[in-house]
Amino acid sequence: MNQLGPTHALSALVARPGVAIPIAALLVVAIAVFDYATVYEARLGILYLLPVALATASGGRRWGWLMSIVGVVTWGLSFATQHAYTNAVYFYWECLVLAVTLLLFVELLTRLQEALARSDERFVRVLNGLHAAVFVTDDARVLFANEWLLRLLGREVAPSVRDIVDRFPNAAPARDAPDLPSAAPFAGTEVRDAVDGKTYLAQAGGINWVDGRRVRLTILTDITEQKRAEALQRENQATLHHTARLVNLAEAATTLAHELNQPLNAIVGYNAACLRLLDEGDTDPGELAAAMEKCRVQAARAGDIIQRIRELTRKRTPTLSPCDLNGMLREVLGWLADDLERIAVQVTPVLAAALPPVHADRLLIEQVMLNLVNNAMDAMASMPRDQRALHVVTERAGADGVRITIADRGTGIAAEHAARLFTPFFTTKTQGLGLGLAICRSVVELHGGRLWHEPRRGGGTAFHFSLPAGAS
Ligand code: ADP
Repeated sequence: MNQLGPTHALSALVARPGVAIPIAALLVVAIAVFDYATVYEARLGILYLLPVALATASGGRRWGWLMSIVGVVTWGLSFATQHAYTNAVYFYWECLVLAVTLLLFVELLTRLQEALARSDERFVRVLNGLHAAVFVTDDARVLFANEWLLRLLGREVAPSVRDIVDRFPNAAPARDAPDLPSAAPFAGTEVRDAVDGKTYLAQAGGINWVDGRRVRLTILTDITEQKRAEALQRENQATLHHTARLVNLAEAATTLAHELNQPLNAIVGYNAACLRLLDEGDTDPGELAAAMEKCRVQAARAGDIIQRIRELTRKRTPTLSPCDLNGMLREVLGWLADDLERIAVQVTPVLAAALPPVHADRLLIEQVMLNLVNNAMDAMASMPRDQRALHVVTERAGADGVRITIADRGTGIAAEHAARLFTPFFTTKTQGLGLGLAICRSVVELHGGRLWHEPRRGGGTAFHFSLPAGAS
């Protein structure tokens, strides 16, 4: 700090031309008087550079020129009166050399000053162009403040540290400035504007100032919008979760309605059959027991469905276990055997012998199979009896997947319906819910698989779904 004293004093003097230029003029006179007194023995001509430099630094080029002329004239007068030269030519020659030296010095100094001012201006322009408040503080003062900060504080000139601390209570305390290592990354903290409540990111770190001292550079960036956007995003996410939950619940409710339909219809059918058998009087108890057993199986299935839906709404994760797709498909065809028989559908299963087990939710995949077979039966109901053939295939697909195909000889799918098939509530049936395929697709995709359909050569539609084998 000590060596800064004279530098500061000189800077302060240069900054006040009203004082600096008279002092420079006095110096010129003092040098001339000294030269005169020593009868040119001390050779002080070079010292005229001092007042000329002072005048140039303080008042610019014109004052520099003026002080040079004053210096040369004063020097000339001091010697002209003493006749220190044997030949007048030498006197004029030295007078000329001094004048040229001083004027060149003024020019050099001025250009140097202009170059410095330009680079300073570039630096200040960049800092003023930043969309952030930038300021430099030492222990007690603000050494630099960019326009952004001045505008923020409503000040024309550099504010005081107090002004800044009043506005941003926890931004960059100046006290610890010397402790900040320059290599350390600028630490960032969030600060609040005490006036308008905006949020700023205050990044502060130690830097070496122009005079070699450790000072603190602080950058305040307005992050209010960013914070608002983050809050909005969090809010949106919460709403999204909430909506997803509602959708899950709604989906679960509609799934329940849809899936219960089938076993309940079957129960009603078996009950009617039992009643009919009882009505007939001479009933074979074995036949009655068989119908009642089927009724029980369907009731148990309805119970299972309710249980699974309850679990799904609770945790939404399906229960995965190794599943034998061939066995499941046979089971599903068994449940529908009566219906298939009733509408005289020929079933030709082609089940791959060495099908790898699939990690799947058994009940959900069975439900997909059931829906697809039911749709196939519906599509064939209006076709001539001898054409009603259902082709069911399981096969390996690719290196590690299985594919199930349920292909019918039904009405086929009209081009205008194809795009909407998987849209919930799209149905062409009078009794349809239009949910089966939408649910089938979400179930298959939930297992990492794919569900699609294509027209079948020779008429009808083939529905396929693939599942990754061993997927968990
Ligand atoms: P729903 O069976 O209640 O109508 P789905 O979502 O299962 O609901 O089916 C939607 C529509 O897709 C059906 O109404 C039908 O028009 C068409 N569809 C589904 N499967 C077939 C198929 N195998 N053949 C022809 N059309 C089909």
